[in-house]
Amino acid sequence: MSTSSLEEHPSNPGLSDGATQTPPPPRPRKTINPPTVIYIEGFGRSGTTLLDAALGQIDGFFSLGELAFLWDRGHAPSEICSCGSPAAHCPIWGEALDAVRNSCGATAAQIAHWRDQAFPRRDSLLAGTRILDGRIRARSGGYLDATSTCYHKVAEITGSDILIDSSKSPAYRYLANLLPDVTVHTVHAVRDPRAVVFSWQRDRAGEGLPARPVRQTAREWTLGESRAELLRIRQGGARTIIRYEDFIAEPKSAIRTILDDVHQGGKNLDFIEEGRINISPNHIVCGNPSRFRTGAISLKPDSEWKTKMCWGHVASVTSLCLPWIARYSYPILNPRRNTIR
Ligand SMILES: [Zn+2]
Repeated sequence: MSTSSLEEHPSNPGLSDGATQTPPPPRPRKTINPPTVIYIEGFGRSGTTLLDAALGQIDGFFSLGELAFLWDRGHAPSEICSCGSPAAHCPIWGEALDAVRNSCGATAAQIAHWRDQAFPRRDSLLAGTRILDGRIRARSGGYLDATSTCYHKVAEITGSDILIDSSKSPAYRYLANLLPDVTVHTVHAVRDPRAVVFSWQRDRAGEGLPARPVRQTAREWTLGESRAELLRIRQGGARTIIRYEDFIAEPKSAIRTILDDVHQGGKNLDFIEEGRINISPNHIVCGNPSRFRTGAISLKPDSEWKTKMCWGHVASVTSLCLPWIARYSYPILNPRRNTIR
């Protein structure tokens, strides 16, 4: 994710702004109902990590991070949690990973393999049919079991009713929706694609985020939006659309919209103040390096692209993303004007 607020403060993975802070101990366990998962989907650099961390500040909510990617490279136990510990030594994730190991007896690499073979892109057009969903379940092997175990174990350990999974991919959201023992509510995070493409032109190779070509990013953005919409139509399920620009301008209003949609209205949002969000130490296990940010995070619209992106690139991205630019009410003919609603 790339938010102006975060980029103003260079990321320092493993350390927080308040470097002496440590996450509070888990709350006493309680017997809870099957958890509700707020699944944040959207293209990278659309504010998903900040939205995840912000929702995790709410009482009874817990930020997981990009759970689907925890198994990548087969190193789940050594993935660094935002509390600063390897996942295997984190008080939350150490126990959750033990539960996964006892449940499906597979390595992280095997779980990643199951995930990758579960839902190839060619199946998207047929998604939502009983036959295909059965095939997807069969191909996913222990991935669905591992995901369900993580959801339930973390909910149990932390006493949280609502979990936030910001894995972003609509395919992994589709897989989560196949779990019979959780309720999934999708939050679809969108951002003006011209801002997204401009952000991906910045080379952050040091953080594992190298620059990407303009037209390739624009095409992938459009394909991603199209696939997300197709799978939503095929599978159904509740969804809230949050525009990054609106979230940065009116964070409390955006969070309230999500809370109302998951029937959690009335929650205390005092951690959101004028122009900033206060993020307490947390246990976000996987995702953008900005997950290590804690403390007061300033919210300022990242509109550098409006003055620094050349007209050729603006026109190219606009043409490649036109249907979705219109769908999300971003300006077409004069894209550099203010878009806050
Ligand atoms: Zn942790």
